[in-house]
Amino acid sequence: MKNITLIFAAACLLMLTGCKKSTMKENPFFVTYQTPFEVPPFDKIDTTHYLPAFEEGIKQDNDDISGILKNSEEPSFENTILPFDRSGKLLTRVSKVFYNLNSANTNDQMQAIARQIDPLMSEHRDDIYLNDELFKRIKAVYDKRNESGLDSQQIRVTEKYYRDFERRGANLPADKKEQLRKINAELSMLSLNFGENLLAETNKNFRLVIEDSADLAGLPEGVVASAAASAAEAGVKGWSFTLDKPSMIPFLQYAKNRDLREKLYKGYFMRGNNGNSNDNNAIVNKIVNLRIQKAGLLGYSTFADYILEENMAKTSVNVYDFLMKLWKPALPNSVKEVAEMQKIIDREGSNFKLQPWDWWYYAEIVRKEKYDLDDSALRPYFSLSGVRDGMFMVANKLYGITFTQRTDLPVYEKEVETFEVKEADGSPLGILYLDYYPRAGKGAGAWCTDFRSAVTEDGKRIDPVVSLVCNFTKPSGDKPALLNWDEVTTLFHEFGHGLHGLFTQGKYYRTAGNVPSDYVELPSQIMENWAGDPLVLKEYAKHYSTGAVMPDELINKIHKSGLFNQGFETVEYLAASLLDMDFHTLSDSLTMSVGEFEKEAMKKVGLIEEIFPRYRSTYFAHIFDGGYAAGYYVYIWAAVLDADAFNAFKESGDVYNTELAAKFRKYCLAESGDDAGMVQYNKFRGSEPSVEPLLKRRGLK
Ligand SMILES: [Zn+2]
Repeated sequence: MKNITLIFAAACLLMLTGCKKSTMKENPFFVTYQTPFEVPPFDKIDTTHYLPAFEEGIKQDNDDISGILKNSEEPSFENTILPFDRSGKLLTRVSKVFYNLNSANTNDQMQAIARQIDPLMSEHRDDIYLNDELFKRIKAVYDKRNESGLDSQQIRVTEKYYRDFERRGANLPADKKEQLRKINAELSMLSLNFGENLLAETNKNFRLVIEDSADLAGLPEGVVASAAASAAEAGVKGWSFTLDKPSMIPFLQYAKNRDLREKLYKGYFMRGNNGNSNDNNAIVNKIVNLRIQKAGLLGYSTFADYILEENMAKTSVNVYDFLMKLWKPALPNSVKEVAEMQKIIDREGSNFKLQPWDWWYYAEIVRKEKYDLDDSALRPYFSLSGVRDGMFMVANKLYGITFTQRTDLPVYEKEVETFEVKEADGSPLGILYLDYYPRAGKGAGAWCTDFRSAVTEDGKRIDPVVSLVCNFTKPSGDKPALLNWDEVTTLFHEFGHGLHGLFTQGKYYRTAGNVPSDYVELPSQIMENWAGDPLVLKEYAKHYSTGAVMPDELINKIHKSGLFNQGFETVEYLAASLLDMDFHTLSDSLTMSVGEFEKEAMKKVGLIEEIFPRYRSTYFAHIFDGGYAAGYYVYIWAAVLDADAFNAFKESGDVYNTELAAKFRKYCLAESGDDAGMVQYNKFRGSEPSVEPLLKRRGLK
C-alpha cells in the first residue's frame, strides 16, 4: 500500500516538474513577497512551486559564490566574508517555508518533494564547503584577521566561517573529501527515512479504538469527548486514542483498564521497532556507524568529540560528569516513587508488580493523595487564550513589548494565529505565528522556528517572522482548549525561543542570535519560571467560564507538586541523554543490535526496569532526525543556566525587575551571538552559573 502511494506521488512530481516553465512566472518565491511585512504568501504558494524555486535558488547561490571567486583583488572581509554571508537569499527563502511546512503541515506530496530536494541540498552544501577556491579566500582573510583592522564582530564571523569549512572537511585531500560527501548524502537520506517512519508509526500505523463504553472507566468527561471526536474524524466507531501525547497521556493517567493502558503504551514505546516497513533499527545502526566514519575522516576519535568542541561543555568527559552528578541523586528518588506506587497497588488488593505502563496511572493517584492536585482541577484555569495572553503580559512587563493580533496575514492553516510584535515605543520588532493543535501532517512535540531571521543589513534591520508550533489539547464541545500544566509550560518555553528570535540583533547571518546548542534552551527554559511563579499565575490563570482567579490553595499545590514525580522526570530524561552519549562516544562500529546496545547502556547505569528512557533508540528523533546528536544533554545543561538566571530575579525581590530584564535581553538574547555562551552569560550575571538553584528546584537536594 505504502509503495503504491510513493509511486503515485513520484508520478505526480514528474508531471509537475514537466510543466515548471509555465509556472515560473507565477512562482511567489521569485519575487519579493507582496504581503504585509513581507511574510510568506501561503495562500499563493503551491507545492509545484518548491522544486523550481530550490533549483533556481541553488543556481543563484552558485552565481553569488562565483562572483566572490571572480574578484581579482586580494581576499578581504568586504569582498569575501560579507558577500558569502549574504549569498543564497532565494534558497534561504524557499528553504524556510518548505522545511517548516514539511514539519508542521506535510503530506505525501511534500514528502516526495523532500526526497528529491534533500540530496540536492546535501550536494549543494558539499559543493560550497568542499570548494577549494572559496576556502582559500576565506582562509586568507582568516589568517590575517588580527592585523587587518577588523572589528570584533568581523573577526568572530570570519573565524566562524573558517571553522565551518574546516569542520566540513575543507582541509582534507581530494579522495577523503569525496568519501565525506558520500557519507553526508547517505546520512541526510537516512535521517529523512527515520523521520518518515516515525511519523507513520505515530500517526498511521497505530490507533486504539474502544467500542465498549465500559472500557472508558476512569476517564474524565473531556477526554471521552475528545476520543469520540477523534473517532468521528477517523471514520471509526466508538472512541479513538492515538499516540499523540494529548490523546495518550490522559488515557495512561486515568483509564482503569490496565490491559488497554499496556496496549496503548506499547504502541508508543515500540514505534520504529515493529519489524514492519517502518522499522528504524537498521537505520539507527547505519547512522551511528556512518557518524563514526565521518568523525574519523575529520580527525576525531568519536562523533561526540566532533560535536562537543563547539559547545559550552567542550568534552564528553564533562558531559558524563555533569549527567552523573544529577543521575546519582535522581535514581534513588525514582526508586522511592516506585515503592510509593507499589504500596497503592498492594492496598488495592491487586496482585502485580508495577510496570512502565502503570506509571502514569499510579503517579496520578499519588499526586491526588499526596499533593491533592488533580490535573482536571487545573485545566479550567488554563484556557489556551488565557495562557497565551499571560505570556504576552509577562513579556510586556519585562521588556515593554506589545502583541497585536492580525487577521489579514496569510497562513498555511486557518487555525494559525498571527501577531504583530512592537517595541514599547511602537517601533516594529517582528511577526509571531502560533500554531497550536495536532494534525495528521504535523510532527509530534513542540518547536519554535522562523520564516525569516533577524539581521541588520547596511544599517537597516530586517524584522524576523517567528513561529511556534505545538500539539496541544483541542477545544472540545462548547469548551475552549483547556491546557494541562505540561502544555502551559511548553507554550511559555517555545515563546522563550520566540523572544530570542524576535530580539536578535547583529549584522551577520552567521552570528546573529547564533549560540551553542547547550545554550539554546536558556532563553526558552527561563520563561517556564514565570509560567509557574505564584504572582504571575494570579494574573493569568483565570477560570475559563467564571473568570475567577486561581485560588491560592491551588497555586500552592502547583508549587508543591513541582517536586512531584521528579525522580521519574529526571531519570527518564537523563537515561535518554546517556543513551545518546553512549551511541556517539563509540569509536568502533556498532556490531550488536540497537536493542541490545540500548539494554546494555541502561544496565550500566542501573536504570530501573519500571522506567524507559524518555526516547528509545527507534524513536529518538532528536538524535537521529534532528540536531541533537551527542547533544540531548543540553536541556538539563541549560536548566542549570535558567535556574541560576531566574534566581537573579528572585533574589532582587521582583520577578518583573526591568533593569535585570534589560540586561538579560541585551546580553543573553539580543547579543547572544556576539561572543562565547559563557562570556555572554557572565555579562548578565556577573559570575558563572551555580548548580544549586536547579538541584533545589527539583528537590534533589
Ligand atoms: Zn526548546
